[in-house]
Amino acid sequence: MNATSVSPSPLTADVESSGLPVVLRGVPAVGGVRYAPVLWPGARPAPDAGEVAVELGEPERAGERARFAAASLTVADRLRSRAARATGAAAEVLATTATLAQDRAWTAAIDKRIADGLPAVRALAATADQFVEMFTRMGGLMAERVADLRDIRDRVIAELRGLPEPGVPVPDVPSVLCAEDLAPADTAGLDPHLVVALVTSLGGPTSHTAIIARQLGIPCVVAVQDLAQVRPGAMVLVDGTRGTVTVEPDAGAAAEAVARARREAELADSWRGPGATADGHRVAVLANVQDGAAAHAAASTPAEGIGLFRTELCFLNRDLEPSVGEQAQIYGEVLAAFPERKVVVRTLDAGSDKPLRFAGHPDEANPALGVRGIRIAQGNPDLLTRQLQAIADAAAATGQRPWVMAPMIATPAEAKAFAAQVRSFGLTPGVMIEVPAAALLADRILRHVDFLSIGTNDLTQYTMAADRMSADLATLSDPWQPAVLALVHSAARAGADQGKPVGVCGEAAADPALACVLVGLGVTSLSTAAAAVRAVGAALAGVTLDQCRSAADAALAAESSDVARSAAIAALATR
Ligand code: PEP
Ligand code: MG
Repeated sequence: MNATSVSPSPLTADVESSGLPVVLRGVPAVGGVRYAPVLWPGARPAPDAGEVAVELGEPERAGERARFAAASLTVADRLRSRAARATGAAAEVLATTATLAQDRAWTAAIDKRIADGLPAVRALAATADQFVEMFTRMGGLMAERVADLRDIRDRVIAELRGLPEPGVPVPDVPSVLCAEDLAPADTAGLDPHLVVALVTSLGGPTSHTAIIARQLGIPCVVAVQDLAQVRPGAMVLVDGTRGTVTVEPDAGAAAEAVARARREAELADSWRGPGATADGHRVAVLANVQDGAAAHAAASTPAEGIGLFRTELCFLNRDLEPSVGEQAQIYGEVLAAFPERKVVVRTLDAGSDKPLRFAGHPDEANPALGVRGIRIAQGNPDLLTRQLQAIADAAAATGQRPWVMAPMIATPAEAKAFAAQVRSFGLTPGVMIEVPAAALLADRILRHVDFLSIGTNDLTQYTMAADRMSADLATLSDPWQPAVLALVHSAARAGADQGKPVGVCGEAAADPALACVLVGLGVTSLSTAAAAVRAVGAALAGVTLDQCRSAADAALAAESSDVARSAAIAALATR
């Protein structure tokens, strides 16, 4: 397959008219960078195409049930024999899908519909709709199994109609497999030399697509907006670490990006910490976690501690506020993962994209600008008091001395009140800098607290007035925006003047080049997803503090995020 042999898509048309590549954004699932043409799987059978909508007569129903049972058995047997030939996660996934094909609840629901007079294909389609809706409503891991259900439906329908097994064609050249979502049976048999990256418009980081990609050792980006518009054969640069898919990038630049990612991956694998520039300027590299399990996983990386424990993520599914005792136990698990190390606990950042049912959020037209983060404590001060008690109890139980910070601080008065409360529990107070007002008055805020932690995700959203969830505004919601960097600089300068630490815990810290720029702007620690710790540490170890400062100056002086990025990367490459 080749980029020039197919007609242009709307996205390619944009590329050609503007001369700029289009960058699609999604959720990074498996790291790595690849450049190759796009491959889409063939169309799946339409469940109701060509089916007669009439009710089956009584005498035909038994035969139709037998036909369905035979088709299900064939599909399950085929999957099982592929499972036997596969290894590891692929084998497991195939075996699980085979089991699903003969699941009792599933087959009984279809049988019943056939017994009531529906032809097998229609009974199958209706049951799949019912189960898909149910799994979707259950959310989380169950929702991510929806692709498996649809896959079983399509395979059995193809079998009933005597059509070839649906699935992914074997590409002629190494390709990036794009799909709405990929079923395990599609992905399990893939050859990583021919399918070099996976990109889906649905799915989450724990979907089967991501699991298989990890096993195959190929980059994967999921939940990519507008992916459907990328035509087969279009050349794309997939960055599984940043969660981007660049359509029709400059070929030379793309090849260089792939080569650079390979070199960086090799260096990152061998990085052992602690965080420092090549000339020995210490910058702690820390991990962001959301529970005890993630903290233990982070402890197996060279992360020197935890720079952001997002406590609200422990309670997203709760109707009722967890007791102080239960909270203390959960926080204690995280503290225990890094004995004698720095752990920064963030108080509940509920609201906006992370509502908590027990926090009593008001109905708001614009929740990102509403009562979220520390603002919840205005109407519900006891919620914060109980959480601080739980953190203090966890600290006492583990012998740790955690730092505690508040999200969404906007004024020095808020910082002052929070600090007093935190100190009354014997804990060390700090605040997040996520609101431009707080970055501008960082010097006054810092007089009240012991440290700052810059949340570049929200700081970018609020500085650029661009919803961080909007794919259409992705260019604006880029932490490389010089306006955002100027605010980071303002906060870091306040820290340097007062001799207090100022870290970054937003996603910006996970971008190795940007991490170096942040250090050049004066931040004293970087906290990132555990998966990015090694890459960030290795990038920092490869440059001097002077290079970081030159890169920061170049980025600050730029007019756009693209120019800031390329100017900084050039400065980091110059010795
Ligand atoms: C941030 O805004 O950068 C941050 C770390 O907080 P969250 O992503 O949880 O909003
Ligand atoms: Mg935030």
